[in-house]
Parts: sequence; structure tokens; C-alpha cells
Amino acid sequence: MDEKVVVVGTGLGGLTTALRLARRGYQVEMVEKYHQPGGRLNQLKKDGFTFDLGPTFFSMTYEFDEFVKDTGLEAMPFAFRELDILYTVHFRDTGKRFRIYRDLDLLAQEFETVEPHFKEKMEKFLGSAGTFFHDTEYLVLKRNYDSIFDYLLTLLRVPLKHSPKLFRSVWTEMERHFESREVKEIFSLVAFFLGATPFDTPAIYTILSYTELVHDGYHNVQGGMYRIVEGLKKELDKAGVTMHFDTEIVGYKADNNKLMSLTDQHGKDWKADLFVVNADAAWFRHQIFQRKKFSEGRMDKLKWTLAPFTMYLGLNTKLPDTPLHNYFLGNNFKEYSGKIFKNAIKLDQPYYYVNVVSKSDPESAPEGCESVFVLCPVPDLRYKPDWSDRDEIAGNILRDLSERIGIDLEKHLISKTVMTPLEWRDAFNLYKGSGLGLGHDLDQIGGFRPKNFDEVYGNVFYAGASTVPGTGLPMAVISSKLVVERIIKAYGSLHT
Ligand SMILES: Cc1cc2nc3c(=O)[nH]c(=O)nc-3n(C[C@H](O)[C@H](O)[C@H](O)COP(=O)(O)OP(=O)(O)OC[C@H]3O[C@@H](n4cnc5c(N)ncnc54)[C@H](O)[C@@H]3O)c2cc1C
Repeated sequence: MDEKVVVVGTGLGGLTTALRLARRGYQVEMVEKYHQPGGRLNQLKKDGFTFDLGPTFFSMTYEFDEFVKDTGLEAMPFAFRELDILYTVHFRDTGKRFRIYRDLDLLAQEFETVEPHFKEKMEKFLGSAGTFFHDTEYLVLKRNYDSIFDYLLTLLRVPLKHSPKLFRSVWTEMERHFESREVKEIFSLVAFFLGATPFDTPAIYTILSYTELVHDGYHNVQGGMYRIVEGLKKELDKAGVTMHFDTEIVGYKADNNKLMSLTDQHGKDWKADLFVVNADAAWFRHQIFQRKKFSEGRMDKLKWTLAPFTMYLGLNTKLPDTPLHNYFLGNNFKEYSGKIFKNAIKLDQPYYYVNVVSKSDPESAPEGCESVFVLCPVPDLRYKPDWSDRDEIAGNILRDLSERIGIDLEKHLISKTVMTPLEWRDAFNLYKGSGLGLGHDLDQIGGFRPKNFDEVYGNVFYAGASTVPGTGLPMAVISSKLVVERIIKAYGSLHT
């Protein structure tokens, strides 16, 4: 029986796939180009501060519970913490700040001056999003598709009443339910979590409002998000999985329709019976397998999610009025959203997200200090290849934030690291610096997304954000479940 697996990449999709397979008796070895595990779910330690590199919160924690059950772990190797205020949203022109609570009565109080009958309207909106979520979660989302036909047949089983959501955008759905600019803008921010804008994201993704406000809320992890990776690494060590860092796959050897080995940058061949690619599923087919269907011309025509411009700031002061998660919006939401993707608007008054991680994990900053993460979604390298203006953009964000929170941040800055889409691309092989991988347009999800099995080599599989089901931490965990289902179907479980 085949049993040796090489997993390329130690992102969340790779780590969870490796443990599921190891627990089923496979001998697993992992290769990773970065110097430590985690992929985008990574960590930066600098000048006495600790920062989460990318993800700061997530929903659908029960996908981790399913993973623990599936792998037979005694307990979750890290501890979730539910966020009580989900986030705050600040408007530049009015100076207003809204706190987003899960409790609908508290939430209604926040909006009582701008949106009459908020609670009733929100209940109706969430009712519709929730029904769609429960009608499709198991039927469509958590499923493997063997072909586009198989996918389309499944879609036919979705109740017809949901079909308008396929043709409307998140923004149009907002306009159907709410009147105020504030409510529409705030609850369409979920589209940005998918790396897109509410104007080009289908209304089916209003399910994210349902998951944040009703279903499971948002969580982070005690001690920082990187505890997820550290916890998984410990379990993988116990299961005998070996990891090799600073090891980048750059080539391959194949025999007809079987992959024999992958070759790293030093010329070493990594042989196995089967291979799981956690590197971006489209990028790997493009860059390593050099498939025509994934040529640069075709890759550039695909819809990629916004790229990240991130800053990691160590401050020698406290930010008393800035809670954990915050969004800072300008006054031109529609224009900005419409132009930001294609680099058609100046980044002099950017929209950005601020996470003060030391609010929930004080040990991430020295006494009296604060660790701050800033994420500004920006155009990817197709539209803006030159980032020589990085200091200017960082300065714009710092100045804007300083004005809005009333503290001169430059004066208190004792550590500063900036990552543009160039650094994100080079760290994790993200195509043209796109932060969340392939977008979630209707022609790029389900049966239309790059498959989790290879078109040519029968012993190659894929896990992670650009294959099914999609991007985000819970989706990476689901992708490991789906790919392992495929592998077990093809190769069987070695522990029966
Ligand atoms: C700035 C930012 C903020 C985010 N915030 C959130 C959030 O708050 N909540 C949330 O749920 N999601 C968030 N996400 C998305 C989330 O990080 C990803 O969806 C998820 O981590 C993807 O995991 P993955 O396993 O698919 O891929 P990755 O994490 O990208 O892992 C793939 C791994 O493969 C390695 N690799 C690539 N090519 C090779 C090669 N040739 N050889 C060897 N190794 C290779 C890479 O180095 C990487 O370690 C965020 C992403 C970014 C960038």
C-alpha cells in the first residue's frame, strides 16, 4: 500500500492535512520555503514586541472541533477567545464611531440616530442570510466536486428562493434592507474580508454577516493567533511528521501520469508515493507544473483578491480609547471601493484596519507599550508593481490614524516593520501579492475553482485557500478535510 506523503507548504491547510493523514497511518514529511511554519498565519517578533503577521480573528470555530475529533486529539491544542465587541468602525468626515455588538439590542442602540427600526430590519436581513447559510453549508460548501456538471447538479438542489442572491451584489442586498450610509457601509465590509469589494461580491456572501452576528461570532486565540501553529506543530511532532524549512520546491520529475519527485532550490529530490500541495493551487500549476491553462496571461485574467499593505508598530505608549479590532473608513466609500483594485485612486487617504493585539494579549508588548497591526487593502502587483512609495503610504496611514485617535504615533514609535505586496509575494509565493488568493466570484467557486486533485498526475492533491472551498482560516481547515476525503477514497486509510 502507498504510504509516504510529501506536503508542500506549512500553512494552515498543509498542517491540518498533514495531521489528518499522519493519524491515518501515512508517513508525512513537509517542506516549506519560509523559515518557520504557518504560512500567512505567521508571527513576527521584533524589538521586544510580538505580532501576528496576517490573520487576527476568525469564525466557524466548530471546524476546528471537527478537526480535533477527526484526528483523535485529546483536546484542542490552543484556546479560543470569543470577541464581545466584534469591532469598531470609524468614519472620517463625521468623526462617528460605531461599536459592533452581537447583541442586537445593543447594536440597535448604536444605530438609533441613523437607521430607524434598525432591529427589525437587521433581523429580516440576517434571517434571509441565515436560511441561505443553512441551506447550502453542507449541500454546497463542504463538498468535493468531481466535475463542473456534478457541481451544477448540486446547485439545482439549492432552494429556488435563494437564486436572486446569485445575481445581486452585497451592496445591492444592503440597499434592499437599509437606508443609512453608515449601516450599509459597515455591514458590507464583510466583502473586504474576502479580499474584494461589496460592489463586485455576490450577495450570497452576506452569510458572513450571519456568521459574525448570529451563528458563531468572531474569535481569536489566547496568547496570539500563532498559538494555533505552535499547537499543531507539537501534535505533528508527536505524530512523527518531519518539517524542513527554507526549502522551496522549484521543479519536479514525473513518469507519465505519476509524479515521482519534487525538486528543491538546492537540487534535492523529495520522493513520495503521493504529494499534497499547500502552496497556492493556481500558482503551483502555473509556476511549477507550467500548465497552459494557468499561463501568466490566463492567471492575470483571473480575479485575485486585494493585496495587503501591512505595518507592525511597537509604541511606547498606551492607546486607551482604541479597542482590539477597528476599521477606519473615509468619506468616499463607493468611489474608493470602485477604484482601489485597479490602482485608480491615490493612497493619500487610505481605508485601513487596526488591531491592537496587546489589548487582548498584554505579553505581546513590553510594560506600558502597545503592539499594533495595520492592514490596508491595496492593488496587487498587476496594477501597482512599484512600491517605492511605501514610506509615503505608511506615513499617510500613521498621520491619519494619529489625527483620528488624538495621539501622535510617530512620536511614540519604537518599532516599525512594513510589508508591501512585494514582501507578501516573496514570503509565501502569493500570486502578484494577492493576499487571500483567488477571488470568490461565481465562476471561481465550487466546481469552477482549481480542483483539489491534479488534472494530470493521479498522485497529486491540493489543500488551501485557492482550491475548494475558499479563503480564510476555517476554509483552510475544511479544505484539509475535503482533500483527505479524496485521498482516502483513492488510497484508503492505513489504520482501519
Ligand atoms: C494580511 C492578511 C490578513 C488575513 N486575515 C485573516 C483573518 O483575520 N481571518 C481569516 O480567517 N483569514 C485571514 N487571512 C487569510 C488567511 O491567512 C488564509 O486564508 C490562510 O492562512 C491560508 O492558508 P493556506 O494553508 O491556504 O495557505 P498559506 O498560509 O499561504 O500556506 C502555504 C504555504 O506554502 C508555502 N509555499 C509556497 N510555495 C512553496 C514552494 N514552492 N515550496 C515550499 N513551500 C511553499 C508558503 O511559504 C506557505 O507557508 C488573512 C490573510 C492575509 C494575507
